Amino acid sequence: AAAIGNGDKLSHIRVSGLTKRYSTSRGEVLALDDVSISIGAGEKVVLLGPSGCGKTTLLRCIAGLESPDAGEIEIDGKIVYSSSMRIHLPPERRGLSMVFQSYALWPHMTVFQNVAYPLINARVPKADIEARVMAALRMVNCDIYADRYPSQLSGGQQQRVSLARAIVGRDETVLFDEPLSNVDALVREQLRNELAALQKKLAFSTVYVTHDQSEALALADRIAVMRSGRIAQIGSVREIYERPASRYVAGFTGAANIIEGRISSVEKDVAAVQTAIGPLQVRPDGLAADQAISIVIRPEHLQFSDARPAVNAIRGRIELATFLGVYTEYILAAQDQRLVVRSTRPDLLDEGSEVWVTLDTKHAVTFATDGGHE
Ligand code: ATP
Repeated sequence: AAAIGNGDKLSHIRVSGLTKRYSTSRGEVLALDDVSISIGAGEKVVLLGPSGCGKTTLLRCIAGLESPDAGEIEIDGKIVYSSSMRIHLPPERRGLSMVFQSYALWPHMTVFQNVAYPLINARVPKADIEARVMAALRMVNCDIYADRYPSQLSGGQQQRVSLARAIVGRDETVLFDEPLSNVDALVREQLRNELAALQKKLAFSTVYVTHDQSEALALADRIAVMRSGRIAQIGSVREIYERPASRYVAGFTGAANIIEGRISSVEKDVAAVQTAIGPLQVRPDGLAADQAISIVIRPEHLQFSDARPAVNAIRGRIELATFLGVYTEYILAAQDQRLVVRSTRPDLLDEGSEVWVTLDTKHAVTFATDGGHE
């Protein structure tokens, strides 16, 4: 953190009761509905959710690019927005920088001039500028392009330069708005890893907007899954993945099988569930007999079994087998249900064959279907 980061003075973002309405010709849109979130110093929080759920609006409100209707935003102990106190600091006074989906580089400036821009704006002494710009460019492996114009760079290179411009000011908070969605898949993965390494090294706090689940899982300390202007769940990557609080969150954080059923009995350690694909057992926590439930199980938590399993035996026919390198993905037809199974077993199972799979009770998450846990 010595070179560019701010090891000693880390920022912290606190958003409380934030509400934002847009008026459109068809009436009002409630883009943010009483959102509260707290982001620790050096923490990486990803806002994840489908198009229109309000993630960009939340990011832009934190940045100061959007004016909320109610609530409060504090950055590094300083109130930058408050509806009750009528405070609304402009973006440049919030001590943060932003990386956008479109690279937003000035076309008439060289790479060097683009990256130097925030420093010139902040009246950094001329003598320091060159060293800082080149250090930032080296961090993203773009120092050799210092004299080029943006139009002479690939999309991935342009995004690296935007990244250099975001870190050169040594701001403690960097906001990202889908920064990788315009680069192709291979470069995206590479940039994602470089970004993760850079964050580790410089320890800036991050709010990162994406609708890409794998990006969220790779980059976040915590994920906030958003839905209709609210935060549906916030938690560590593991919590969100392994203990989603709703079907919605489960479906938005990686592939998930959903099996509908009804509880037939509840005992101390296990609840029995009747489903269209046979009787299953789940953990009994919070469940009651006769309740309608959905069982959510990730594809890697369904396992093939050579013989009929003693419990949680599911019979199915392999409709499709797709070899994906590390694992093979199978689409299984069990009665009318389609199940996705990811298996790392080395032998490929033939399409059309009848197989047994079993589900691991400890990885199955249940939701009351009629309890509003949509
Ligand atoms: P995306 O991934 O598509 O960018 P998002 O989750 O970032 O989606 P927002 O852009 O925050 O969603 O939009 C939230 C809601 O507010 C949407 O219903 C959107 O149509 C609406 N909205 C956003 N900006 C405006 C605007 N300037 N005027 C009117 N409505 C807007």
